[in-house]
Amino acid sequence: MKPLPPGTTIGIIGSGQLGRMLSVAAAQLGYQTHIFAPVTGPANDVSAGFTRGAYDDEEALGVFASHADVVTYEFENIPADPIRELARHVPVHPSPAALAVAQDRIAEKSFAEKLGGRAAPWRRVGNQRELEAALGEIGYPAILKTTRFGYDGKGQARLMKPEDAVGAWDAIGGRPAILEGFVTFEAEFSILLARSTDGSIATWPAPKNEHKNGILALSTVPASPEIAAQHAEAAGLASRIAQELDYVGVLTLEFFASADGPVFNEMAPRVHNSGHWTIEGAVTSQFENHIRAICGLPLGPTGLTGKKVSMENLIGEDALPENVAHLLAEPGAHLHLYGKHEVREGRKMGHVTRVKR
Ligand code: AMP
Repeated sequence: MKPLPPGTTIGIIGSGQLGRMLSVAAAQLGYQTHIFAPVTGPANDVSAGFTRGAYDDEEALGVFASHADVVTYEFENIPADPIRELARHVPVHPSPAALAVAQDRIAEKSFAEKLGGRAAPWRRVGNQRELEAALGEIGYPAILKTTRFGYDGKGQARLMKPEDAVGAWDAIGGRPAILEGFVTFEAEFSILLARSTDGSIATWPAPKNEHKNGILALSTVPASPEIAAQHAEAAGLASRIAQELDYVGVLTLEFFASADGPVFNEMAPRVHNSGHWTIEGAVTSQFENHIRAICGLPLGPTGLTGKKVSMENLIGEDALPENVAHLLAEPGAHLHLYGKHEVREGRKMGHVTRVKR
C-alpha cells in the first residue's frame, strides 16, 4: 500500500478517550481525523470533523465515509454488518472480519484455540437450563459472561456455589452467554502488537495488569518474572492471530499467567487501556503505531524509554481537581485527563504514567 500523505483524513468510529489519543497521534503525523458517534465525547475536543449517527445507521455512515480516506474504530461494540458495507466504499482497518471475531467471546476463543492457544474451559449458554448443564460439566467456581457487549466486568456473574446459579442467566440480561471455568492465575497481562499493511509486526513489552472491581487499575512494565517467562508463547499466539486475520493496526490480547502457562482470556481489535503507558514509556506509542499501520507507514520501535513504567487509571472522583493536584506537583508524573464533564463511579476519567529512568 502506498503511504497516505499528510493532510489525509482518518475516520474514527467512536468518540471516547481512545479516539482522542488516536487523534492526537494522527495530528502529530500531519493527518486529520473525523469522528463518527451517536454523541460527542472526549475525541471531539481534538478532532475537527464529526458525523453524528447510530452505529447501525448506514446513511449516516455513508456521509461519514465521504469525509474519510481510511476508517478505523476505537471500540468493538458496533454491529459488524454496517461496517462490512462501509468497507465497500472506504478501506477499514482492522477489517470487519477481525471485528466480527473479536466482538464475540465464543468466536475469539474458538479462533485462538484453533491457532494453538489455550483458554479456560468454556460452554455456550443460551438459557438457564443450559447454564445448569454447563455447570455440571465445568463445576464451581465459574464465570458467566455475555458473549457480546461486555466491558469492564459488565455483563458478568461469578458463580461460587449452586445457589448463585439460581436466576443467573436472567441476571446478566438473558442474552447469549458463555460459562467459563475459573482460572487460578498468578497475574494478568496483555500482549499489544501492531501489524502493518506489509505484514510486519511490532510487539511491545507485555504489561502486568491489575484490576479493581473488574476495571483496570494499574499496568506495569517490565512485568514480573512469571509473566516474562510466558511472553514468547503469548506473543506467538497474538502474531498467528494477526497473520491469520491479515490484521492491520494494533491488536490486544489479554492473558492469565497460570502455573501451566498463558491462558487466553479475550482480545480487542484496537488500542487498549493497558497500552496507555506507551505514550511516554515506549519509543513509539500504541496510538502512533496504529495510525502508522492503517496509513501504510513503517511501524516505529516499541522498546521502553526507561527502566520501569507504570500507568494508573484515574476512575471517577480520582480525577477531580483536588485529587490530581499532587500529581501536577509530582515531577515526571504524566497526567492525562480525558475532558469528560460528568464524573461517574467506575468511569475512566484519565490516567497517570510514570517512567523511571
Ligand atoms: P473480562 O471481561 O473477560 O476481561 O473479565 C474481567 C476480569 O475478570 C478479568 O480481568 C479477570 O480479573 C476476571 N476474570 C475473567 N474471566 C476469568 C476466569 N475465567 N477466571 C478467573 N478470573 C477471570
